[in-house]
Amino acid sequence: MTDALLNVYNRAPITVERGEGVWLYDRDGTAWLDCVSGIATNALGHAHPKLVAALTEQAEKLWHVSNIFRVPGQEALAGRLTDGCFADVAFFGNSGSEAVECALKMARRYHWSKGDEKRIDVIGFAGSFHGRTYAAINAAGNPGYVEGFGPRLPGYVQLTVDDGDAIAEAIARPTTAAVIIEPVQGEGGARALSGEWLKRVRDLCTANGVLLIYDEVQSGMGRTGRLFAHQWFEGVEPDIMAVAKALGGGFPIGACLATSEAASGMKFGVHGSTFGGNPLAMAVGLAAFEEIARTTTLAHARSVSEDFYTRLSNLSARHPDVIADVRGKGLLIGLKLKVNNREFMGVARDQRLLVAGGGDNCVRLLPPLIISHDEVEEAVNRLDAACASARA
Ligand code: PMP
Repeated sequence: MTDALLNVYNRAPITVERGEGVWLYDRDGTAWLDCVSGIATNALGHAHPKLVAALTEQAEKLWHVSNIFRVPGQEALAGRLTDGCFADVAFFGNSGSEAVECALKMARRYHWSKGDEKRIDVIGFAGSFHGRTYAAINAAGNPGYVEGFGPRLPGYVQLTVDDGDAIAEAIARPTTAAVIIEPVQGEGGARALSGEWLKRVRDLCTANGVLLIYDEVQSGMGRTGRLFAHQWFEGVEPDIMAVAKALGGGFPIGACLATSEAASGMKFGVHGSTFGGNPLAMAVGLAAFEEIARTTTLAHARSVSEDFYTRLSNLSARHPDVIADVRGKGLLIGLKLKVNNREFMGVARDQRLLVAGGGDNCVRLLPPLIISHDEVEEAVNRLDAACASARA
């Protein structure tokens, strides 16, 4: 590994050269079963022919013009993303963090534009992850991500999901601007919030004039078997939502979606991006959206995930000294382990199975949504072998 790279990652010792479907191939041609999907990003698997075609076709025409010009692909993708959901408008950036950043700026600016300059506080929750920019690390408040980066930004309040009284009290404060929630906590260890919990927070926000932001960067775009995880429940729609990762099927993209009311403070010149919404990202984003939003894709994701949970609960019964809990929603699956999760990722690699780490000593299984039932069986067989050697 070259010393010229900033050393902020703990990289697996594999050099991947090519991918197809749920399989990755290294330089020696060894096949790896990919239950990471570029961290919940390659939802349609690697080298999906429709995405490859969309990207190459656009690459031959136009890559980038900036937002000084109209980009027809942006209008098309914004139309698809806001069709039949809570949102009226979309802003495109290049990543999840940028989508979150836009959401947080939009929420504060909304209250400011209504003359309510006191409403600046953003309530976030322990165990959540919103990205690595300053606002995102302060909103999530994970001590490991803010330490050493100077004073915490003012106006960010941290609560725990279990403290219902504190949540009600904080949302009712006249200084509260917004609440930011991951409907299924991803990096924190695949923890799904209940519909009742989301509904209570939604109702408290509505009653107090506070904006509700969902971060569906990881849980969105089909990952849980619905287009967005919050759509499993009635009456819990947000005012603003951050989306990224699978939205580009592996190509960098992020979007902040909002109701026109929540976005009403955002005017010409107050926000922007050079690359956001570029023609390449929009072409591949549109192709990915068409595939993921299909009922057949979502139904398949639900069906394989049920298969996964059945097999994983049998697996955990066979290895009670390795697996403490099986949890998550859809194909955002967490195994809370009794052995060290980083070491377990290594023994899974010995089986040519790639899994992602997660908080709370979890490993996450985030396979492409197109994983077949046979491949689910294969993944669980490999996990079985990994559990046996983790215990040995
Ligand atoms: N929000 C959530 C829920 C995420 O899982 C992530 C990435 N893991 C981000 C935001 C940040 O996305 P990005 O790395 O694209 O900035």
